Amino acid sequence: MTPGAPSEHPIRILLVEDDSVDVAAIRRALGRGGVNADVTALPRAEDALELLGSGPVPFEVLLTDHRLPGTSGLELCREVLARRIPIGTVMLTGAGSEHLAVKALKAGVDEYLIKDTRNRYLELLTALLPEVVRRHRARLAHGEAQATLRHLAAIVESSHDAIVGHGLDLAIISWNPAAERIFGWRADEVVGKPLTMLLPQDHREEMPRMMERLVAGERIENYETLRRRKDGSLLDVSLTVSPIRDGDGELRGASAIVRDITDKRRAEAAQRRAHREMEAFLFRVSNDLRTPLLSVRGMLELMREDLGRDAPEGNISEDLLTYFEHIDRSTTWMGRLLEDLAEMSQVGHTDTTPSAVDPRRIVDQVVVEARDRARDTSLDVGIADGFPTLWCNPKRLRQVFSNLVDNAIKFGGRDGAIQIGWRPADAGERHAVLFVQDRGPGIPRSEQSRIFEMFYRRQGSEGPGTGMGLAFAKRILESMGGAIWVESAVGQGSAFLFHLPRSRT
Ligand code: ADP
Repeated sequence: MTPGAPSEHPIRILLVEDDSVDVAAIRRALGRGGVNADVTALPRAEDALELLGSGPVPFEVLLTDHRLPGTSGLELCREVLARRIPIGTVMLTGAGSEHLAVKALKAGVDEYLIKDTRNRYLELLTALLPEVVRRHRARLAHGEAQATLRHLAAIVESSHDAIVGHGLDLAIISWNPAAERIFGWRADEVVGKPLTMLLPQDHREEMPRMMERLVAGERIENYETLRRRKDGSLLDVSLTVSPIRDGDGELRGASAIVRDITDKRRAEAAQRRAHREMEAFLFRVSNDLRTPLLSVRGMLELMREDLGRDAPEGNISEDLLTYFEHIDRSTTWMGRLLEDLAEMSQVGHTDTTPSAVDPRRIVDQVVVEARDRARDTSLDVGIADGFPTLWCNPKRLRQVFSNLVDNAIKFGGRDGAIQIGWRPADAGERHAVLFVQDRGPGIPRSEQSRIFEMFYRRQGSEGPGTGMGLAFAKRILESMGGAIWVESAVGQGSAFLFHLPRSRT
């Protein structure tokens, strides 16, 4: 800002002066000099201190006469400085007291002006004030930056995660206490050394790749990998790396937050073990239960035959027939449940070898079988052309389509058409999206994720079903690197979409 030029915001001045003529002269001079100022004048130092001492300081400059009733301008400035009140200070005094100037400047007052009889000091004041304000504002900004730095340093110091800073040459620049605890190296042992000392031998190529990504402006988030401790042992970590840039935006290095995920890994391994045991158990139980179930059904058949033979004219009573039907239905349903359970427990263990698969052939077969099952050969099913070749297990893909098409028929396809197709992916996209769409009643948004849960059937879902079809499809797809979701609105049908890796062949 040019001295004397009007500033955008008025300079807020607290003027302590008991001579009203001088107050008026100062106001006039500031106005004449084009200083945009907002002046509050008080005659007494106590009032000024009271105003400055309560809450945020509403002034940028304290302009005080030296000669004040009961005290002096110098005392007032000393008090303001002692209390660390953030404000610029300018002192005015009468001629012949130059020794005071030295005292004032020693005390830390910003500027000192001697009132001359020809009032030349007023001109000087208008030139000086904007400069005092500029210095004061710079001091404030510096203070705030320092406070922020101290705050950030405290966060880094107290973090549970290791925070490691390094330059472009990969030399370690900073190393917080958590890094000492996690890696076992003290800061003085690693600062200046190459970051690669923390990488296991077979992970060395990670570093240049990460730097390339940072140079490209990317941030690396939750990248799970291995690091090496001082004692040589390996450590599972999750890395979040951010670029460090200088004031001109030039990349200067990076800072990595290194989270020790050993406990998470252990928990995952335990969960996988428990999962495998549960699946083995399910497989065993569902298979073992099928044998007695078969014998129940066999016995039932024998009973029906025997009773029919012994009953007069071979007629079994209505009641008995109803009982037989109930048992038949229940055992059939139980058999299907056991079959589904056995299948479900095997997903991801058998027959998952992927190959290049043309979905069209599978869809055609599934539709023929579904028409047979639904005993409706005229079922309106539209099948798209030109399906992309997928990289998956054909038997599993068939099970997915089979479930989705059966559902489309069961829950709403009968009166309307079913569409089976695919959506074009962006060039370079490694997955393809396929869908089975019906014009049925649709599924409310609140239940759209629940229908993929095991045994979940929507209220009022008629017809046979164990509530496992969609859960089964989801597990199959996930085991092949895919995912499934539904797009549906009540009254407007449902589209079940899934994606799977495309074949590169
Ligand atoms: P199930 O078919 O044995 O009931 P699923 O897991 O296949 O079990 O489906 C779960 C529930 O999701 C079904 O009970 C039904 O309420 C709902 N659902 C599935 N597919 C559709 C569809 N195409 N239209 C409407 N609701 C559906």
